[in-house]
Amino acid sequence: MAFDMVSFFKRIDLLDQMGGRDNVLNWTAPQARHWFPIFRERCNNIAEQDMLRTLRSGKYSFLVHAIPTFESPRPTALSLGMLCGRSLNNFLLSSHLLEVETGRYIRQQREQRFCQACKRSLGLRVLGDEQHALSSCVRAAEQRQLSFAKILSLFPGDSLRHIQHNSLFNMLNSLNNLSTNQQNLAWKLVAKYTLAVQQSIRSELGTQDRIPNIWKECMKNIFLKSVTKAAEKYFRKRLRRQQRNMPALPAIVISDDSDDDVEILN
Ligand SMILES: [Zn+2]
Repeated sequence: MAFDMVSFFKRIDLLDQMGGRDNVLNWTAPQARHWFPIFRERCNNIAEQDMLRTLRSGKYSFLVHAIPTFESPRPTALSLGMLCGRSLNNFLLSSHLLEVETGRYIRQQREQRFCQACKRSLGLRVLGDEQHALSSCVRAAEQRQLSFAKILSLFPGDSLRHIQHNSLFNMLNSLNNLSTNQQNLAWKLVAKYTLAVQQSIRSELGTQDRIPNIWKECMKNIFLKSVTKAAEKYFRKRLRRQQRNMPALPAIVISDDSDDDVEILN
């Protein structure tokens, strides 16, 4: 047990600082109490770094970029209004409609997941990810400029002059230098922009049918069915009316000069 503890201290690189193996094995209770908070802090730091490393390398890299430390206030705890709040959450958790994510559903290679809006309007082939959307995308560019300018004015002087023009993305990890109220306002402005982007993509998809939309398909089928039914009813009615108004069937008349040798029996 004592040995396990010693090797654990070594593993978290604390053993030398504690005076080595022999020292640790001969600790008195007050000595152990002295080292406990230091040990706890080291464990917390390692766990935090581990978690950040996992998040950074995976799907949640944007989340870690936007909320760089665990002490940062969570924008998700703010009241942003239902639509804005939901779209910001979707952005932070990478469950948005950007190509980097939707490409995953159709098993597209990551480097092939181009921003369709920029490809269409500018002929550019850029990865459609959060960084692109929040920096240079044509989607909802006006709202991005507006949000950017308003957030920039919250920072003193030219403290953000290193930030690339209109890049909300590069601005995000400076937000925790603002006061709580200012952060609240800034996240609202970011959320507003993410909503504008999502709406823009939705309208693109609506007009292009790039992703099959099950609800749209259902509505179309229901609509088609009701139209077919109405048409059938209309034609049946017309057919009945025609039948009613139709004169009696004309008698068969065969002219006398017919060449056919037909014998008609009365
Ligand atoms: Zn774009």
